[in-house]
Amino acid sequence: MSPAPPGGSPAREQPTEKQPTQEERARGLDANDPLPTRRAEFLIPPHDDGEVAYFAGNSLGLQPRALRARLGEELDDWARLAVEGHLEGRRPWYSYHELLREPAARLVGARPREVVVMNSLTVNLHLLMVSFYRPTPRRPAILIEDSAFPSDSYAVRSQAALHGHDPDKVIIRLAPRLGEATLRSEDVVAYLAEEGDRVALVLLGAVNYYSGELLDIEAITAAGHAAGAVVGWDLAHAAGNVELRLHDANADWAAWCSYKYLNAGPGSLAGAFVHERHLADRSLPKLAGWWSTDPATRFQMAPTVTPVDSADSWQLSNPPILSMAAVLLSLEMFDQTGLAALRAKSRRLTAYLEALLDGVCAGRDAEILTPRAPERRGAQLSVRVRGRDVGPLTARLRHEHGVVADARRPDVIRLAPAPMYCTFHDCWRAATALAAVLDD
Ligand SMILES: *Cc1c(COP(=O)(O)O)cnc(C)c1O
Repeated sequence: MSPAPPGGSPAREQPTEKQPTQEERARGLDANDPLPTRRAEFLIPPHDDGEVAYFAGNSLGLQPRALRARLGEELDDWARLAVEGHLEGRRPWYSYHELLREPAARLVGARPREVVVMNSLTVNLHLLMVSFYRPTPRRPAILIEDSAFPSDSYAVRSQAALHGHDPDKVIIRLAPRLGEATLRSEDVVAYLAEEGDRVALVLLGAVNYYSGELLDIEAITAAGHAAGAVVGWDLAHAAGNVELRLHDANADWAAWCSYKYLNAGPGSLAGAFVHERHLADRSLPKLAGWWSTDPATRFQMAPTVTPVDSADSWQLSNPPILSMAAVLLSLEMFDQTGLAALRAKSRRLTAYLEALLDGVCAGRDAEILTPRAPERRGAQLSVRVRGRDVGPLTARLRHEHGVVADARRPDVIRLAPAPMYCTFHDCWRAATALAAVLDD
């Protein structure tokens, strides 16, 4: 099946009853989907007389139209109240992060006191590793995936070095089986059962940025604990993409950014989760700042921290309100739709795109490397295009067809139909455009 030629069979025997074209079928899927798209609530870059089909929401989500007015409210409060905005703003800045706590907890399946929105993702990875990477001579290792995002690789290497270890010796990079494109959760579990007594910390991407694979968070966390390791999760590509149950999964800690599926804008604030069982542990090493201390006593100017038994105690600084306003709006939108309904739609869109892309890949020396089982992936499909430079291919997708995808050199094109705003028609456009650029 190729999406390139519109229409089905010539159907000469029924000249009056025309088969719908593939494009018409895509529009029909949009019209009949149980969860209407919220595309109109986002600003979508223009292309020719219309708009792009945006498949890079796994990299930077689109801007909600409502955000400009929200930011305006904070700018107005700053103009009108200046320093008094901390306590008298319409959303007082002093306690602003409290507004994000419950929706952020819902998003990742946590209890409210287990989460806080602060900093950027890599900073949070570091702050949490200060507490949760406690190497000993017999247990010095950090286990990551071989296809870890570079920032995570650099972060764990620098943490190992900080503790006086040689990163080349203590960072274990787990690769897929020979000939396979993605890591199997059961292989991570088996590795931990066999070699886990060397592992101090497991830090994996719940959804891999490259392949789009969703790991089995529950099973790997349990295996890490059985091996005596601490288990942290990078949710950069999971938050707002798949349903998460961090608390019930018993994850020790996690961190995620808010500018990918969460649409909170470039470089916007990240989230952090620490499991309840660690919150009152006063023996954990932490870096501290004035935002770590109990807010009730913050202005007593005490020389020592008054600890709070929540994720807030990992905060250092007073947070950037303009970024928080964007995160709050995004979390409101996720609450309105609900992650269960969004994920169900995501599965429908991704399955549809998968079927179209399979048709495109057939006979064109390309293949989808993302796992086929819907429960082993999120919204993203990664297409490997053998022997072609994907840079020029994605440039042509963008400029000739208005399809925004991204190239991961050497040979992978990532397409993420983010369910908040991507449509079945967008999927049809992407597949049709990919066929056209591959045929050239
Ligand atoms: C996007 C991403 C990051 C980005 O880190 P920042 O600190 O937000 O710049 C880090 N790790 C992973 C796995 C990512 O996907």
